[in-house]
Amino acid sequence: MALDGFPILMQGVPLALMKSSTFKPDTPLAQLEWVPRVRLNPLARLGLSTIGDLIGHYPRRYEDRRRFDRFPDTEMEHPVCLFGVVTKTALKRIGGWRRMFEITFENDAAGLLSQPLTCRWFNMPYMQKMIAVGQHLVIFGRPKKKGQRIFIDHPEFETVEDDDEMSIHMNRITPVHPAGDGVSPRLLRNLIFQALACTDLSAIPSLLPASDVLALHDIHFPQTFEHLEAARRHLVREEFFCIQLLIQARRTDWRRLPGTAKTTTGKLLDRLLQSLPFALTDSQIEVIAEIRRDLSAPQRMNRLLQGDVGSGKTLVALAAMLLAVEAGWQAALMAPTQILAEQHYLNFKKFLEPLQIPIALRAAGRTEDTAPLPLFANAEDRGAHASPRAISGVPPENQVRRDAELHTRDAYAPRIIIGTHALLYESSGFDKLGLIVIDEQHKFGVLQRARLIARGDSPDVLVMTATPIPRTLTQTLYGDLDVSTLREKPANRGTVVTAVRETAKLPEVIDFVKKQIARGRQAYIVYPLVDESDKLAVKSATAEFERWRPLLAPYSVGLLHGRMPPDEKEEVAAQFRAGRLAALIATTVIEVGVDVPNANIMVVENAERFGLAQLHQLRGRIGRAEHKSFCVLLHDPKAAEPALEKLAVLEETSDGFEIAEADLRLRGPGDLLGTAQTGLPPLKLGDLFRDAELMKETAALATSVFANDPDLRKTENRALRMFLARSTAKIAASAG
Ligand code: ADP
Ligand code: MG
Repeated sequence: MALDGFPILMQGVPLALMKSSTFKPDTPLAQLEWVPRVRLNPLARLGLSTIGDLIGHYPRRYEDRRRFDRFPDTEMEHPVCLFGVVTKTALKRIGGWRRMFEITFENDAAGLLSQPLTCRWFNMPYMQKMIAVGQHLVIFGRPKKKGQRIFIDHPEFETVEDDDEMSIHMNRITPVHPAGDGVSPRLLRNLIFQALACTDLSAIPSLLPASDVLALHDIHFPQTFEHLEAARRHLVREEFFCIQLLIQARRTDWRRLPGTAKTTTGKLLDRLLQSLPFALTDSQIEVIAEIRRDLSAPQRMNRLLQGDVGSGKTLVALAAMLLAVEAGWQAALMAPTQILAEQHYLNFKKFLEPLQIPIALRAAGRTEDTAPLPLFANAEDRGAHASPRAISGVPPENQVRRDAELHTRDAYAPRIIIGTHALLYESSGFDKLGLIVIDEQHKFGVLQRARLIARGDSPDVLVMTATPIPRTLTQTLYGDLDVSTLREKPANRGTVVTAVRETAKLPEVIDFVKKQIARGRQAYIVYPLVDESDKLAVKSATAEFERWRPLLAPYSVGLLHGRMPPDEKEEVAAQFRAGRLAALIATTVIEVGVDVPNANIMVVENAERFGLAQLHQLRGRIGRAEHKSFCVLLHDPKAAEPALEKLAVLEETSDGFEIAEADLRLRGPGDLLGTAQTGLPPLKLGDLFRDAELMKETAALATSVFANDPDLRKTENRALRMFLARSTAKIAASAG
């Protein structure tokens, strides 16, 4: 037992707790007599079932209870932490059934009564049973001023009891842990204090050479803020190292997959480019070259293509697919929605028919193959991989004369397949699948992606995303992928003017929309149905439609939402594309990929309810042609300040990277890591911005570990190997 931190652990530990026994971290809480039986279930609901769970339950904030804040005499921007006594309580009726519990709270230190403070709790009459006159409390909240009085509404509070546990809770930097029903921060603090004192902390697995013992203690009960910061950095380093190990392991695995070199003269691609009415942007040229290099290398490509909405990713995808096709392979594109798959299909068909390349649509609602086409010319570059078997369309009659008629036969098999998730579940149906393109990859999870990749003939993979990842994070989140970025947009784009307005301006907005429609343009009206999962959604969609139709009369209006049957959806989308509908009343189903260049207006109602990234994505539906475009973000006049700040960002910039950075700044990285798309565990302590340099450091460390020992066979890497095995199992289990 190595307890380096022992002397510190003992500081202030009541004698009763200094038991001789030490426990292993995996000891169930149920076996510890100092954990109250009635708390076992509530603790389990917080995910706390072992003593190690308790120790890994880090505080969400700290209060410096050695020196409390002064009682405020004015409104403040930040919360304060106060110590005082309750001098008055009252339960007041505030109209109807509503009640308010109010206390007067004063600082009685040094016998000087400060200006009293009022704390209020609305509609929580049971508060009356929790707080009484004469009690001492620690209170945490943001003071507001109304008239001459200072209020804190719904503060966090803790009653102070003068018992032998005082030393745990008071006169120190006190941790406040994430609490839950039936588990108060005070209880947690108590339990964690005891857990630290009687656990063999050195048995908690640590992947970094330096021991965690001190850090584990100091993260909960630091002596000074310097100790706290040192502990935090130590544990963040550990946390980031775990993430980097996972990423590097994936990268190493991928590198080992067999691949095939797909070399071409690029003839097909050249013919496509010649047929385009525009020239590629420099970014597009650069990225296509990167992809071509990957395709012609014997390793498998695993590349992320990121580019703002409208930057022309689809064309890059098509170019990549043509390169694969020319090399004798089939290429598939997977889109997240039916509408999008259909649209890609129509779009690609337009480009591919002149080149005489067969293409097929495979979506849940509909499958379609282009009619058998004469062989695309100059197929002599097709290499030895060409398949002897047609998998769909009309089976060729001349199968026997295989060698002589190779070209003709293949003409019946689609070389390019566009599909939705349906592609994932098809058991066969691919014919020498050499390239998979995954569009809007943030809509797919890592495991879904893995599933698609596992099929076929070691296909190369290109994933595309229109949700730009701030530069600072690319390496973290996608360290297992190579990244290409489309930094510029095609030049022929009209500007998009964005205006943020209160809902009251709606009549003026409608006038404006109608004027644009009169000039032949089209409009999107987006209404705020955030959750489309239930039946109510259908009802409210219909109500929205009935509300808007007369407003935009005499122009024809269509309705599009997520709960419509696929063929109805496609019908409406097609009518809008064809210009038969002047406006589309829609939910965010149009967020992704809808491409109608003639539509130049977007009105978003209750824009404050949408996320920044989502609004940017929505706005990407307009400004897709030379017309000047207009985006009006309507908001409730009572919308909260942060929401308005968010809208202001959109008014200022339309650069996806800037918006992504702003989003992270305003919202915090939150669960960015713990999402299905990365398959990485959520962060407990680390801050992707603040600790960016630790991420770099641990990335380098993980890279060198794998460079020296790719299979982690060496004894010193045993713990790492076990960690990876555990994590992989956990990720697989959580994905069902
Ligand atoms: P993204 O998928 O990146 O949002 P798209 O690939 O849908 O963007 O491209 C948006 C529109 O721009 C499409 O209509 C496409 O045909 C067109 N486009 C693509 N590349 C260029 C280019 N280099 N010049 C002009 N228009 C382009
Ligand atoms: Mg796209």
